[in-house]
Amino acid sequence: MTNYAITPPKQTSAPIEGSDEVFPIRRIYCIGRNYAEHTIEMGHDPDREDPFFFQKNPDNIDVSGKFPYPPKSSNVHHELELVVALKSGGRDIKQENAMDHVFGYAVGLDMTRRDLQGISKKNGRPWEIGKAFENSAPMGPIVPASKSTNPDAGRIELKVNGDTRQQGNLNQMIWKVSEMISYLSEYYEIAAGDLIMSGTPAGVGPVVKGDVMVGTVEGVGELSITVV
Ligand code: MN
Repeated sequence: MTNYAITPPKQTSAPIEGSDEVFPIRRIYCIGRNYAEHTIEMGHDPDREDPFFFQKNPDNIDVSGKFPYPPKSSNVHHELELVVALKSGGRDIKQENAMDHVFGYAVGLDMTRRDLQGISKKNGRPWEIGKAFENSAPMGPIVPASKSTNPDAGRIELKVNGDTRQQGNLNQMIWKVSEMISYLSEYYEIAAGDLIMSGTPAGVGPVVKGDVMVGTVEGVGELSITVV
């Protein structure tokens, strides 16, 4: 047995729908600007250029159903996303083999301190302070691929307090799930336990304490998160 000098950090995991087992999380890759209309609303050109990714930390995942409003921000935005969970990985994975590595899918939120992200962008700094903070990745249970969606099509929608805020279709993704897996594997060794947050449709906006966010992805399920 390894003789750790301090108590080892807890392994983060997510529940698996219909199972007593849980899914251990290794890394979280998040793509930026993967839906044209969202790219436009953020002030950028939606022409297909190379994708870019940032990362959240595995322990930013929160499966409690609550989102504690974070400190140091007064403009925290929701970004509803399809989350892809990998059961295996490797390097230089071809697009035609990419889907063999998918364990399943979940509904997730890429919560963003938009004001801090904006300062980072303006100053050419990394995005972590706006993206990779405590509880910044609420997500629901992972639905095994055999029981869930074709990730290339399906309605994706977020309501806040019953009002529709974000609406789109997975078929609007500029980079498909298979392309993201292949692309990431050219730059990283991707592996079992990795999650990919696949980008958000248009309609991102702020939340305040007390708001209830309900996100749905057709073929995957529904996620309800209360801002506390
Ligand atoms: Mn996002």
